[in-house]
Amino acid sequence: MAFPHTFFDTDLFFHRISNDPKVVAAAGDEFSKTRPSAISAFTILEFKGAYVQKLGLLREKVSRSDSLREASARTENSGGRGVKLMLALLLKYLDVGGFDIRPWEEARRQLLVHIDAEIYASYRSIASSVDKVFDDFQCSRSQEPPLFSNTKWKLQISNCTSDAIPCHVQQFLKQYEAELISLIQAIDSLTDDESSRELKNIKDIAFTIIHSSFYCSSKTCRKIGDLLIGLQSKVGYELLTSNFREHDPMHFPLKYRLRIFPLAALRIK
Ligand SMILES: [Zn+2]
Repeated sequence: MAFPHTFFDTDLFFHRISNDPKVVAAAGDEFSKTRPSAISAFTILEFKGAYVQKLGLLREKVSRSDSLREASARTENSGGRGVKLMLALLLKYLDVGGFDIRPWEEARRQLLVHIDAEIYASYRSIASSVDKVFDDFQCSRSQEPPLFSNTKWKLQISNCTSDAIPCHVQQFLKQYEAELISLIQAIDSLTDDESSRELKNIKDIAFTIIHSSFYCSSKTCRKIGDLLIGLQSKVGYELLTSNFREHDPMHFPLKYRLRIFPLAALRIK
């Protein structure tokens, strides 16, 4: 351990803004009381993909809709992982905005102002919520802020194949070859119930890195966020996460200290 920092996993940023009051309070407490605090730069990238981009999509659905019901239907029909989050955000903004949902034209205008502010502020708040951002694998993609131009947000995350956006994940992981060998054995020893798709991806990529030359084909590093964040937290005191399933089997072979945020116990039933 070189630094006394507690690393916050990406999920903590979601708990802080959820609709569940006890979860929000407990996560907020961690951010204010657990110091010094840190994140991996990769958390900025993950948060942008899982939250800021979804806000951009929600904005597009709202702006194209002639009623709240239409906006909800468009959001629901977009499919994929972000639907639940987007509907929860729509509800939250209507609630905290305190404005009338009729006439819709005015409600829509206010919603869009709110979403625009949130896109900008939520991205900026990630790095400013902690004392330090660690970027040991020099992830240039984590430094692409949301841009607004010609009535549209640009929220893409670049692919890391081009020379302009090099991926240093392999060099970073190579330093931890001994840990990765232990990790592969640990994941192999898990039953199907204990393992997960994420852990299997991590094992396959760790194996490739040890045994052959690894080329990050655009999205490879995005599949191993838990591994990258776990390894980055080794320079600090501990990793705080609610993600027990992936981090519990990894923290022993990779030798980082783990503290679990008790999400299930906090959740409103
Ligand atoms: Zn990459």
